[in-house]
Amino acid sequence: MSCSFQDLKNQANQYGFCWIDCIDIIDAPGFERFRAWVQRGYHGSMRYLEERQAAYENPRSILEQAKTIVMLAMPYTPAASLRKHPSLKVAATEMLDSGDDRLESGRGRIAAYATGDQDYHDVIHTRLRELKKWLSGRVPGCAVRGVVDTAPILERDFAAAAGLGWIGKNTLLLRKDAGSYFFLAALLTDVTFEESKHEKPYSLTSDHCGTCTACLDACPTQAFVEPRVLDASRCISYLTIEHRGNIEESLRDKMGSWVLGCDVCQQVCPWNRMAVTETIDDLRSKPSMQAIDLIEVLKMTEDEFRVKYRSTPIWRPRLRGMQRNAMIALANQKLTSAIAWIKPFQNCEDSILSETATWAIARISEATDTS
Ligand code: SF4
Ligand code: SF4
Repeated sequence: MSCSFQDLKNQANQYGFCWIDCIDIIDAPGFERFRAWVQRGYHGSMRYLEERQAAYENPRSILEQAKTIVMLAMPYTPAASLRKHPSLKVAATEMLDSGDDRLESGRGRIAAYATGDQDYHDVIHTRLRELKKWLSGRVPGCAVRGVVDTAPILERDFAAAAGLGWIGKNTLLLRKDAGSYFFLAALLTDVTFEESKHEKPYSLTSDHCGTCTACLDACPTQAFVEPRVLDASRCISYLTIEHRGNIEESLRDKMGSWVLGCDVCQQVCPWNRMAVTETIDDLRSKPSMQAIDLIEVLKMTEDEFRVKYRSTPIWRPRLRGMQRNAMIALANQKLTSAIAWIKPFQNCEDSILSETATWAIARISEATDTS
């Protein structure tokens, strides 16, 4: 038995992967860039990137006998656009306090990809498993492995090489017909497809950003060192999710009300006018996850947090990380009524939470004194 790429594509579409293409296995096109990026320390405290660096060179580190890499993309509910704002060059925190994207005080912002009530890794893995099962049925004995986000693979580079889109100045994969609000996943297999060589709409040298610099200008923490080079250690996504330590004071006020991720460099992108709004049910944005109650986060016990968020993306920074982030957001909102809920953290044993609490109270009090 054999399988045509069109059959695989049709099957993947049924599982919610809207875009899919493949290439023969090659060394990661952006590997040298990735190595230089790690060397410059732009990965912050994400030590796993440093430790597994060599594995990123070729996807065969994940599946030795792989001959083909199939790249797949699945859309999630996009965030509100900020394109209507009169000036894209103003600080994003100011942009976010006005217009369509207004947030009630006491609430925290969650990046669009994480506003579903299930962890996207689990949702996509389940579908990749089905696709693997289907391919193994068509090509008995084939080797196949599905990966999403956690394996050592430079997904955006391979997606660009496979022709799924181009890498924008904001470092994300973009498509003219869909913008950038989608997840990437990969299927490695020893099955080969003729279609891996067909003409593709995008290549590694595609660039449809033109003279636009909206994402670079609007980034609240100025995390882009240059187009397509992100200093992750300054990025709000890294700070709120991956970074477990103290957040540098000079960056805290720039985080605005973001408590899990940040969408600004996507919200200002003109190509996201084309963002696909339909997604599979399991990834659809849920109102309860869009603007979370920050005082409730401060009041939560570990058990309550586990019950409410264990299966959602909010679980990743754990309660401790979310409480640190919540105190920063409340301080940025200058919410006087939050002081009573922040105060108990000043005496807690966790030095990061106690330091953040003292800073947050001082900042709110300072704002009250000068108002
Ligand atoms: S996610 Fe936010 S902080 Fe990170 S680069 Fe984009 S705009 Fe900047
Ligand atoms: S905002 Fe402009 S420069 Fe940035 S990724 Fe989008 S099109 Fe490219």
